[in-house]
Amino acid sequence: MRFPLSMTAGIAGYIFKNRLWPRPEWQRDPVPSNGNGNPFHILHTKSNNGTTRHPLIHQRFPLVLMLEPLHACNLTCEGCGRIREYESTMTQRLSLDQCLKAVDECGAPVVSICGGEPLLYPEAGQLTSAILDRGRHIYLCTNGLLVRKRLGEFKPHDHLFINIHLDGLEKTHDKVVERKGVFREAIEAIRAAKAAGFKVCTNTTVYKETDMKEIEALFEYLKQFSVDGHMLSPGYGYSSVDDQEIFLTRDDVREKFADIERLEAHYKLNNSPLYFDFLKGGRKLPCTAWANPTYNIKGWKAPCYLITDAHYKTFEELMNQTPWESYGHGNDPRCEHCMTHCGFEPSAALGINSKFSDNLKLMVWALR
Ligand code: SF4
Repeated sequence: MRFPLSMTAGIAGYIFKNRLWPRPEWQRDPVPSNGNGNPFHILHTKSNNGTTRHPLIHQRFPLVLMLEPLHACNLTCEGCGRIREYESTMTQRLSLDQCLKAVDECGAPVVSICGGEPLLYPEAGQLTSAILDRGRHIYLCTNGLLVRKRLGEFKPHDHLFINIHLDGLEKTHDKVVERKGVFREAIEAIRAAKAAGFKVCTNTTVYKETDMKEIEALFEYLKQFSVDGHMLSPGYGYSSVDDQEIFLTRDDVREKFADIERLEAHYKLNNSPLYFDFLKGGRKLPCTAWANPTYNIKGWKAPCYLITDAHYKTFEELMNQTPWESYGHGNDPRCEHCMTHCGFEPSAALGINSKFSDNLKLMVWALR
């Protein structure tokens, strides 16, 4: 199975419950000024009063909390916006209580602990076990440099994935992270974590210069370590990253992912086939950034992991006050080429624009 059964069943149950009984205060949409009732340009559905809105657009709820306990990092990767955008708060970090309050307030079944480098957070072990005690699933996203040093602070758990960043083979990865030896240490981290019984997956961003043949070679190389899955996402320009040249346009994304089915057939990719269909241009998906909220030292970041127009004090304020209808392709020029995992994978998971046959496809994928 691609994910532990408890994870697949728990998330499916959570989605089902929230679709049946959505929180009404999170579903409010202001009437768009142009009178067009479908701000996300997704498939139209007639409703009784004649407006055309997709039924799921009114069912906002969080799926994955991106929790950033701190923004400090031991690397300066060229595609990372955090070390630039949060320069002024780089030395600050959330307390353990603040992190757990955010986990409780949001209620998302999956928590991605990221940053910055989360293994620089002194209470990383306590934070992880407190989130696991709440029955949540965790992706601990790390560059791998401190894994061997701090592994003893964690216990293997069916709900915990150590997610190691790898953007290519040794030469490429060390170039992207701007330091020699990082790839080798990440590999040693994978080896040590697997030997200690942890679930380990990898996370790869695809940039303009990425050679997809090299990504295939990377996955082939990682087979020897019995890695539990790979996540891929097209890189997208943070407004805070200077070097926009490295990021992909929609056409670039289609080209890079045109042959993704071959990789899917040979390797355990954790992205859903519906998301890959979207990347290849085979289906429309709206941005569902609200399903992937980010919390950090400045508060709840709106609208998404990539762009920042506001930070709210509470999760309720994020959900209620963000003008969600103003974002997404066609609504905001900053979103024009965005097809990133954090904005669109939830749309696939939520079944937006899906057909009956897609449900079967997803089931086969999850069970494989
Ligand atoms: S389309 Fe991308 S950049 Fe725009 S709000 Fe959604 S996730 Fe953020």
